[in-house]
Amino acid sequence: MLSVEEARRRILDSLPRLEEVEVELLEALGMTLAEEVTAGHDIPPFDNSAMDGYALRAADVARASAESPVDLKVLGDLPAGYTAGLSVGEGEALRIMTGAPLPAGADAVVPVESTRAQGDRVLVLEGVSPGENVRRAGEDVRAGETVLFPGRLIGAAELGMLASLGYARIRCHRRAVVGIISTGDELVGVEEELAPGKIRDSNSYTLYGMVREAGGVPLRLGVVRDDAALLERTIRENLDKVDLFVTSGGVSVGDYDMVKDVLGKLGEMNFWKVAMRPGKPQAFGHVGGKPLFGLPGNPVSVMVSFEQFVRPALLKMMGREDLFRPQVTAVLDAPLGRKRGRTEFIRVVVEWREGRFHARPTGPQGSGILKSMVLGNGLAVLPEDVGRLETGSEVTVQLLRYCQTP
Ligand code: AMP
Ligand code: MG
Repeated sequence: MLSVEEARRRILDSLPRLEEVEVELLEALGMTLAEEVTAGHDIPPFDNSAMDGYALRAADVARASAESPVDLKVLGDLPAGYTAGLSVGEGEALRIMTGAPLPAGADAVVPVESTRAQGDRVLVLEGVSPGENVRRAGEDVRAGETVLFPGRLIGAAELGMLASLGYARIRCHRRAVVGIISTGDELVGVEEELAPGKIRDSNSYTLYGMVREAGGVPLRLGVVRDDAALLERTIRENLDKVDLFVTSGGVSVGDYDMVKDVLGKLGEMNFWKVAMRPGKPQAFGHVGGKPLFGLPGNPVSVMVSFEQFVRPALLKMMGREDLFRPQVTAVLDAPLGRKRGRTEFIRVVVEWREGRFHARPTGPQGSGILKSMVLGNGLAVLPEDVGRLETGSEVTVQLLRYCQTP
Protein backbone atom coordinates (compact mmCIF):
# COMPACT_ATOMS: atom_id res chain seq x y z
CA MET A 1 0.00 0.00 0.00
CA LEU A 2 1.06 3.54 -0.79
CA SER A 3 1.08 6.20 1.91
CA VAL A 4 -1.13 9.25 1.45
CA GLU A 5 1.98 11.46 1.27
CA GLU A 6 3.62 9.30 -1.37
CA ALA A 7 0.48 9.17 -3.51
CA ARG A 8 0.13 12.95 -3.21
CA ARG A 9 3.77 13.50 -4.09
CA ARG A 10 3.57 11.32 -7.20
CA ILE A 11 0.45 13.15 -8.32
CA LEU A 12 1.80 16.65 -7.73
CA ASP A 13 5.11 15.84 -9.40
CA SER A 14 3.41 14.82 -12.60
CA LEU A 15 1.20 17.87 -13.13
CA PRO A 16 2.01 20.92 -15.23
CA ARG A 17 0.99 24.51 -14.53
CA LEU A 18 -1.71 25.84 -16.82
CA GLU A 19 -0.82 28.82 -18.97
CA GLU A 20 -1.18 32.45 -17.97
CA VAL A 21 -3.95 34.68 -19.21
CA GLU A 22 -4.63 38.38 -18.82
CA VAL A 23 -8.07 39.10 -17.44
CA GLU A 24 -10.10 42.10 -16.37
CA LEU A 25 -9.66 42.87 -12.73
CA LEU A 26 -13.04 41.61 -11.49
CA GLU A 27 -12.68 38.39 -13.41
CA ALA A 28 -9.51 37.67 -11.44
CA LEU A 29 -11.41 37.07 -8.21
CA GLY A 30 -10.69 33.48 -7.18
CA MET A 31 -7.86 33.07 -9.70
CA THR A 32 -4.14 32.87 -9.00
CA LEU A 33 -1.85 35.78 -9.62
CA ALA A 34 0.80 35.08 -12.26
CA GLU A 35 2.83 38.29 -12.00
CA GLU A 36 4.60 40.37 -9.40
CA VAL A 37 2.61 43.43 -8.50
CA THR A 38 4.76 46.48 -7.92
CA ALA A 39 3.38 49.88 -6.96
CA GLY A 40 3.75 52.54 -9.65
CA HIS A 41 2.95 55.26 -7.12
CA ASP A 42 2.52 55.86 -3.41
CA ILE A 43 -0.69 54.91 -1.62
CA PRO A 44 -2.02 57.24 -0.47
CA PRO A 45 -0.65 59.35 -3.32
CA PHE A 46 -0.48 62.55 -1.17
CA ASP A 47 -0.48 63.66 2.47
CA ASN A 48 -4.11 63.97 3.52
CA SER A 49 -6.35 64.55 6.47
CA ALA A 50 -7.39 61.56 8.60
CA MET A 51 -10.24 63.54 10.17
CA ASP A 52 -12.86 66.17 9.50
CA GLY A 53 -11.38 69.26 11.17
CA TYR A 54 -9.01 72.14 10.61
CA ALA A 55 -5.63 72.00 8.89
CA LEU A 56 -3.23 74.35 10.66
CA ARG A 57 0.27 74.83 12.02
CA ALA A 58 0.74 72.69 15.13
CA ALA A 59 2.98 75.37 16.65
CA ASP A 60 0.06 77.85 16.62
CA VAL A 61 -2.08 75.69 18.89
CA ALA A 62 0.61 74.04 21.04
CA ARG A 63 -0.88 75.55 24.22
CA ALA A 64 -4.56 75.50 23.25
CA SER A 65 -7.05 74.22 25.84
CA ALA A 66 -10.75 74.57 26.63
CA GLU A 67 -9.88 77.28 29.18
CA SER A 68 -7.58 79.20 26.85
CA PRO A 69 -8.62 78.45 23.27
CA VAL A 70 -6.57 79.65 20.33
CA ASP A 71 -8.39 81.84 17.85
CA LEU A 72 -7.54 81.25 14.15
CA LYS A 73 -8.74 82.79 10.90
CA VAL A 74 -10.56 80.26 8.64
CA LEU A 75 -9.44 80.54 5.01
CA GLY A 76 -12.18 78.34 3.59
CA ASP A 77 -13.37 74.77 3.07
CA LEU A 78 -11.55 71.83 1.48
CA PRO A 79 -13.63 68.77 0.64
CA ALA A 80 -12.07 65.42 -0.37
CA GLY A 81 -11.23 65.31 -4.06
CA TYR A 82 -9.98 68.91 -4.40
CA THR A 83 -6.74 70.77 -3.77
CA ALA A 84 -6.48 73.94 -1.71
CA GLY A 85 -4.54 76.22 -4.09
CA LEU A 86 -3.51 78.28 -1.10
CA SER A 87 -1.10 78.08 1.79
CA VAL A 88 -1.96 78.11 5.50
CA GLY A 89 0.03 80.75 7.33
CA GLU A 90 0.59 81.63 10.96
CA GLY A 91 -2.71 82.23 12.78
CA GLU A 92 -4.69 80.61 9.98
CA ALA A 93 -6.64 77.38 9.45
CA LEU A 94 -8.45 75.64 6.59
CA ARG A 95 -11.59 73.61 7.24
CA ILE A 96 -10.74 70.17 5.83
CA MET A 97 -12.59 66.91 5.25
CA THR A 98 -11.23 63.38 5.67
CA GLY A 99 -9.16 62.42 2.62
CA ALA A 100 -8.57 66.00 1.38
CA PRO A 101 -4.94 66.85 0.65
CA LEU A 102 -3.11 68.63 3.44
CA PRO A 103 -2.62 72.24 2.23
CA ALA A 104 0.83 73.79 1.98
CA GLY A 105 1.90 75.42 5.21
CA ALA A 106 -0.21 73.20 7.46
CA ASP A 107 1.41 70.31 9.32
CA ALA A 108 -1.46 68.93 11.43
CA VAL A 109 -5.23 68.62 11.66
CA VAL A 110 -7.34 69.41 14.73
CA PRO A 111 -10.52 67.31 14.74
CA VAL A 112 -13.74 69.28 14.49
CA GLU A 113 -14.78 67.97 17.96
CA SER A 114 -11.91 69.95 19.49
CA THR A 115 -12.99 73.26 17.98
CA ARG A 116 -15.78 75.81 18.06
CA ALA A 117 -16.63 77.60 14.82
CA GLN A 118 -17.34 81.33 15.06
CA GLY A 119 -18.18 82.82 11.66
CA ASP A 120 -14.96 83.02 9.64
CA ARG A 121 -12.90 82.21 12.73
CA VAL A 122 -12.42 79.06 14.78
CA LEU A 123 -11.57 78.52 18.42
CA VAL A 124 -9.18 75.57 18.87
CA LEU A 125 -9.73 73.91 22.26
CA GLU A 126 -6.93 71.34 22.18
CA GLY A 127 -3.34 71.24 20.96
CA VAL A 128 -1.95 68.84 18.37
CA SER A 129 1.60 67.88 17.52
CA PRO A 130 3.07 68.10 14.01
CA GLY A 131 1.83 65.26 11.84
CA GLU A 132 -1.18 64.49 14.02
CA ASN A 133 -4.30 63.35 12.12
CA VAL A 134 -2.35 63.41 8.87
CA ARG A 135 -2.00 60.32 6.68
CA ARG A 136 1.36 60.48 4.96
CA ALA A 137 1.85 59.80 1.27
CA GLY A 138 3.08 56.21 0.90
CA GLU A 139 2.22 55.19 4.46
CA ASP A 140 0.26 52.23 3.05
CA VAL A 141 2.38 51.37 0.00
CA ARG A 142 5.55 53.03 -1.29
CA ALA A 143 6.14 53.56 -5.01
CA GLY A 144 8.34 50.68 -6.19
CA GLU A 145 7.29 48.35 -3.40
CA THR A 146 6.27 44.81 -4.44
CA VAL A 147 2.98 44.10 -2.72
CA LEU A 148 1.82 40.82 -4.27
CA PHE A 149 3.74 37.83 -5.54
CA PRO A 150 2.87 35.17 -8.12
CA GLY A 151 1.07 32.13 -6.76
CA ARG A 152 -1.28 34.10 -4.59
CA LEU A 153 -5.03 33.60 -4.56
CA ILE A 154 -6.78 36.80 -5.56
CA GLY A 155 -9.42 37.53 -2.95
CA ALA A 156 -11.23 40.67 -1.89
CA ALA A 157 -8.21 42.38 -0.32
CA GLU A 158 -6.06 41.67 -3.39
CA LEU A 159 -8.77 43.06 -5.71
CA GLY A 160 -8.85 46.25 -3.66
CA MET A 161 -5.07 46.57 -3.65
CA LEU A 162 -4.88 46.01 -7.41
CA ALA A 163 -7.61 48.61 -7.95
CA SER A 164 -5.74 51.15 -5.75
CA LEU A 165 -2.66 50.63 -7.87
CA GLY A 166 -4.51 51.07 -11.15
CA TYR A 167 -4.37 47.51 -12.43
CA ALA A 168 -7.43 47.35 -14.69
CA ARG A 169 -6.17 44.01 -16.06
CA ILE A 170 -3.99 41.43 -14.42
CA ARG A 171 -2.10 38.28 -15.38
CA CYS A 172 -3.46 35.13 -13.76
CA HIS A 173 -3.27 31.42 -14.30
CA ARG A 174 -6.13 30.01 -16.27
CA ARG A 175 -8.86 28.21 -14.36
CA ALA A 176 -8.73 24.44 -14.86
CA VAL A 177 -11.73 22.86 -16.55
CA VAL A 178 -12.55 19.63 -14.75
CA GLY A 179 -14.61 16.94 -16.47
CA ILE A 180 -16.68 15.06 -13.88
CA ILE A 181 -17.93 11.54 -14.64
CA SER A 182 -20.04 9.36 -12.36
CA THR A 183 -20.01 5.64 -13.07
CA GLY A 184 -22.48 3.02 -11.96
CA ASP A 185 -25.57 1.16 -13.22
CA GLU A 186 -27.31 2.02 -9.94
CA LEU A 187 -27.26 5.78 -10.49
CA VAL A 188 -30.14 7.98 -11.53
CA GLY A 189 -30.29 11.75 -11.91
CA VAL A 190 -31.60 14.13 -9.29
CA GLU A 191 -34.81 14.77 -11.22
CA GLU A 192 -35.58 11.08 -11.78
CA GLU A 193 -37.79 8.70 -9.79
CA LEU A 194 -35.98 6.25 -7.53
CA ALA A 195 -36.65 2.77 -8.92
CA PRO A 196 -35.82 -0.32 -6.81
CA GLY A 197 -32.09 -0.78 -6.47
CA LYS A 198 -31.31 2.72 -7.69
CA ILE A 199 -29.77 5.66 -5.85
CA ARG A 200 -29.29 9.23 -6.94
CA ASP A 201 -25.95 10.36 -8.26
CA SER A 202 -24.65 12.69 -5.57
CA ASN A 203 -20.95 12.48 -6.38
CA SER A 204 -21.10 14.65 -9.46
CA TYR A 205 -22.69 17.34 -7.29
CA THR A 206 -20.19 17.20 -4.44
CA LEU A 207 -17.41 17.17 -7.04
CA TYR A 208 -18.97 20.10 -8.87
CA GLY A 209 -19.02 22.00 -5.58
CA MET A 210 -15.47 21.12 -4.62
CA VAL A 211 -14.10 22.05 -8.04
CA ARG A 212 -15.90 25.39 -7.97
CA GLU A 213 -14.80 26.11 -4.41
CA ALA A 214 -11.21 25.41 -5.44
CA GLY A 215 -11.47 27.95 -8.26
CA GLY A 216 -11.82 25.46 -11.11
CA VAL A 217 -14.54 25.18 -13.75
CA PRO A 218 -16.57 21.99 -13.28
CA LEU A 219 -18.08 20.30 -16.29
CA ARG A 220 -20.51 17.53 -15.39
CA LEU A 221 -20.24 14.95 -18.11
CA GLY A 222 -23.08 12.87 -16.76
CA VAL A 223 -23.60 9.40 -15.43
CA VAL A 224 -21.94 6.59 -17.34
CA ARG A 225 -23.29 3.09 -16.91
CA ASP A 226 -20.84 0.34 -16.03
CA ASP A 227 -20.07 -0.15 -19.68
CA ALA A 228 -16.52 0.09 -20.96
CA ALA A 229 -17.45 1.44 -24.39
CA LEU A 230 -19.55 4.24 -22.89
CA LEU A 231 -16.83 5.32 -20.51
CA GLU A 232 -14.28 5.30 -23.30
CA ARG A 233 -16.54 7.36 -25.54
CA THR A 234 -17.29 9.91 -22.82
CA ILE A 235 -13.59 10.40 -22.18
CA ARG A 236 -12.63 10.58 -25.85
CA GLU A 237 -15.40 13.04 -26.69
CA ASN A 238 -14.30 15.41 -23.96
CA LEU A 239 -10.53 15.23 -24.21
CA ASP A 240 -10.37 18.61 -25.93
CA LYS A 241 -12.78 20.30 -23.56
CA VAL A 242 -11.19 19.60 -20.20
CA ASP A 243 -7.84 19.99 -18.46
CA LEU A 244 -8.39 16.96 -16.28
CA PHE A 245 -10.97 14.29 -15.52
CA VAL A 246 -12.36 13.15 -12.21
CA THR A 247 -14.38 9.95 -12.22
CA SER A 248 -16.11 8.33 -9.28
CA GLY A 249 -16.86 4.66 -8.81
CA GLY A 250 -15.59 1.61 -10.57
CA VAL A 251 -12.14 1.40 -9.02
CA SER A 252 -13.02 -0.95 -6.16
CA VAL A 253 -12.53 -4.70 -6.53
CA GLY A 254 -15.88 -5.53 -8.14
CA ASP A 255 -15.77 -3.28 -11.18
CA TYR A 256 -12.06 -2.64 -11.10
CA ASP A 257 -11.39 -4.44 -14.35
CA MET A 258 -13.85 -2.50 -16.49
CA VAL A 259 -12.39 0.88 -15.60
CA LYS A 260 -8.88 -0.49 -15.57
CA ASP A 261 -9.25 -1.88 -19.11
CA VAL A 262 -10.67 1.33 -20.50
CA LEU A 263 -8.30 3.70 -18.81
CA GLY A 264 -5.32 1.46 -19.42
CA LYS A 265 -6.16 1.46 -23.12
CA LEU A 266 -6.50 5.25 -23.28
CA GLY A 267 -3.30 6.14 -21.47
CA GLU A 268 -0.92 5.62 -18.62
CA MET A 269 -2.85 4.79 -15.50
CA ASN A 270 -1.78 3.68 -12.03
CA PHE A 271 -4.12 1.76 -9.81
CA TRP A 272 -3.14 2.27 -6.22
CA LYS A 273 -4.15 0.96 -2.87
CA VAL A 274 -3.54 3.96 -0.69
CA ALA A 275 -3.17 3.36 3.03
CA MET A 276 -6.08 5.60 3.93
CA ARG A 277 -9.62 5.31 5.26
CA PRO A 278 -11.91 6.14 3.60
CA GLY A 279 -10.64 5.97 0.03
CA LYS A 280 -8.23 3.05 -0.28
CA PRO A 281 -8.62 2.33 -4.02
CA GLN A 282 -7.44 5.22 -6.16
CA ALA A 283 -6.55 5.47 -9.81
CA PHE A 284 -4.38 8.23 -11.18
CA GLY A 285 -2.65 8.80 -14.46
CA HIS A 286 -3.08 10.37 -17.86
CA VAL A 287 -5.49 9.56 -20.67
CA GLY A 288 -4.96 11.20 -24.03
CA GLY A 289 -2.50 13.52 -22.32
CA LYS A 290 -5.00 14.70 -19.70
CA PRO A 291 -4.64 13.84 -16.01
CA LEU A 292 -7.37 11.56 -14.70
CA PHE A 293 -8.31 10.89 -11.10
CA GLY A 294 -10.32 7.71 -10.62
CA LEU A 295 -11.90 8.16 -7.19
CA PRO A 296 -13.76 5.42 -5.37
CA GLY A 297 -17.56 5.63 -5.49
CA ASN A 298 -18.59 6.05 -1.87
CA PRO A 299 -19.71 9.62 -1.31
CA VAL A 300 -17.37 10.30 1.62
CA SER A 301 -14.44 8.56 -0.09
CA VAL A 302 -14.99 10.88 -3.03
CA MET A 303 -14.87 13.98 -0.90
CA VAL A 304 -11.94 12.89 1.27
CA SER A 305 -9.91 11.75 -1.76
CA PHE A 306 -10.69 15.00 -3.53
CA GLU A 307 -9.43 16.92 -0.50
CA GLN A 308 -6.21 14.94 -0.24
CA PHE A 309 -5.31 14.56 -3.92
CA VAL A 310 -7.45 16.45 -6.41
CA ARG A 311 -7.70 19.81 -4.68
CA PRO A 312 -3.94 20.29 -4.21
CA ALA A 313 -3.42 19.06 -7.78
CA LEU A 314 -5.94 21.53 -9.15
CA LEU A 315 -4.43 24.38 -7.17
CA LYS A 316 -0.98 23.48 -8.40
CA MET A 317 -2.17 23.43 -12.02
CA MET A 318 -3.79 26.81 -11.47
CA GLY A 319 -0.53 28.26 -10.22
CA ARG A 320 -1.12 28.40 -6.49
CA GLU A 321 1.77 28.36 -4.04
CA ASP A 322 -0.30 27.29 -1.02
CA LEU A 323 -1.83 23.94 -1.88
CA PHE A 324 -3.15 22.69 1.43
CA ARG A 325 -5.88 23.46 3.91
CA PRO A 326 -4.95 25.16 7.15
CA GLN A 327 -4.24 22.61 9.89
CA VAL A 328 -4.77 23.07 13.60
CA THR A 329 -4.14 20.98 16.67
CA ALA A 330 -7.35 20.17 18.50
CA VAL A 331 -8.22 18.35 21.71
CA LEU A 332 -10.56 15.39 21.33
CA ASP A 333 -13.83 15.77 23.23
CA ALA A 334 -14.67 12.08 22.72
CA PRO A 335 -12.53 8.92 22.43
CA LEU A 336 -11.76 7.45 19.00
CA GLY A 337 -11.40 3.72 18.61
CA ARG A 338 -9.64 2.65 15.44
CA LYS A 339 -7.47 0.09 13.70
CA ARG A 340 -3.87 0.96 12.94
CA GLY A 341 -2.36 0.61 9.49
CA ARG A 342 -4.03 3.35 7.48
CA THR A 343 -4.23 7.11 7.74
CA GLU A 344 -7.77 7.81 8.82
CA PHE A 345 -9.74 10.93 8.08
CA ILE A 346 -12.40 11.36 10.74
CA ARG A 347 -15.04 13.98 10.05
CA VAL A 348 -15.17 16.24 13.06
CA VAL A 349 -16.84 19.35 14.35
CA VAL A 350 -14.10 21.77 15.32
CA GLU A 351 -14.80 24.53 17.79
CA TRP A 352 -12.71 27.17 19.50
CA ARG A 353 -13.45 26.97 23.20
CA GLU A 354 -11.57 28.04 26.33
CA GLY A 355 -8.51 29.08 24.42
CA ARG A 356 -8.11 26.05 22.17
CA PHE A 357 -9.58 24.05 19.36
CA HIS A 358 -11.80 21.13 20.32
CA ALA A 359 -12.85 18.34 17.96
CA ARG A 360 -15.58 15.73 18.20
CA PRO A 361 -16.56 13.13 15.61
CA THR A 362 -19.74 13.93 13.71
CA GLY A 363 -21.20 10.47 14.40
CA PRO A 364 -21.04 7.31 12.27
CA GLN A 365 -17.96 7.38 10.07
CA GLY A 366 -18.85 4.94 7.28
CA SER A 367 -17.69 5.93 3.81
CA GLY A 368 -21.33 6.17 2.71
CA ILE A 369 -22.38 8.51 5.54
CA LEU A 370 -22.47 11.77 3.61
CA LYS A 371 -24.08 13.47 6.59
CA SER A 372 -20.67 13.33 8.26
CA MET A 373 -19.44 15.81 5.64
CA VAL A 374 -22.53 17.97 6.08
CA LEU A 375 -22.09 18.15 9.85
CA GLY A 376 -18.30 18.31 9.97
CA ASN A 377 -16.11 21.31 9.35
CA GLY A 378 -12.81 19.47 9.58
CA LEU A 379 -10.99 16.21 8.96
CA ALA A 380 -9.02 14.84 11.91
CA VAL A 381 -5.98 13.11 10.44
CA LEU A 382 -5.00 10.02 12.41
CA PRO A 383 -1.59 8.71 11.33
CA GLU A 384 -1.14 5.10 10.21
CA ASP A 385 0.58 3.97 13.42
CA VAL A 386 -1.80 5.53 15.95
CA GLY A 387 -4.33 3.29 17.73
CA ARG A 388 -7.19 4.23 20.06
CA LEU A 389 -7.25 7.84 21.16
CA GLU A 390 -8.73 8.87 24.50
CA THR A 391 -10.71 12.01 25.28
CA GLY A 392 -8.24 14.85 25.77
CA SER A 393 -5.72 13.54 23.19
CA GLU A 394 -4.44 16.01 20.65
CA VAL A 395 -5.18 15.47 16.97
CA THR A 396 -4.28 17.33 13.79
CA VAL A 397 -7.30 18.66 11.97
CA GLN A 398 -7.53 19.93 8.40
CA LEU A 399 -9.98 22.81 8.46
CA LEU A 400 -12.42 22.55 5.59
CA ARG A 401 -14.52 25.56 6.53
CA TYR A 402 -15.11 27.75 9.46
CA CYS A 403 -16.97 26.68 12.52
CA GLN A 404 -20.71 26.61 12.20
CA THR A 405 -23.48 25.21 14.32
CA PRO A 406 -25.28 22.22 12.77
P1 AMP B 1 -18.03 1.66 -6.47
O1 AMP B 1 -16.74 2.31 -6.09
O2 AMP B 1 -18.41 1.91 -7.89
O3 AMP B 1 -18.02 0.21 -6.12
O4 AMP B 1 -19.14 2.35 -5.59
C1 AMP B 1 -19.08 2.28 -4.17
C2 AMP B 1 -20.36 2.76 -3.55
O5 AMP B 1 -20.55 4.13 -3.87
C3 AMP B 1 -21.60 2.06 -4.04
O6 AMP B 1 -22.47 1.87 -2.94
C4 AMP B 1 -22.19 3.03 -5.01
O7 AMP B 1 -23.59 2.88 -5.13
C5 AMP B 1 -21.83 4.35 -4.43
N1 AMP B 1 -21.74 5.34 -5.48
C6 AMP B 1 -20.99 5.22 -6.60
N2 AMP B 1 -21.13 6.30 -7.40
C7 AMP B 1 -21.97 7.12 -6.75
C8 AMP B 1 -22.50 8.41 -7.06
N3 AMP B 1 -22.18 9.04 -8.18
N4 AMP B 1 -23.33 8.99 -6.16
C9 AMP B 1 -23.65 8.36 -5.01
N5 AMP B 1 -23.18 7.15 -4.67
C10 AMP B 1 -22.36 6.52 -5.52
MG1 MG C 1 -19.73 1.21 -9.22
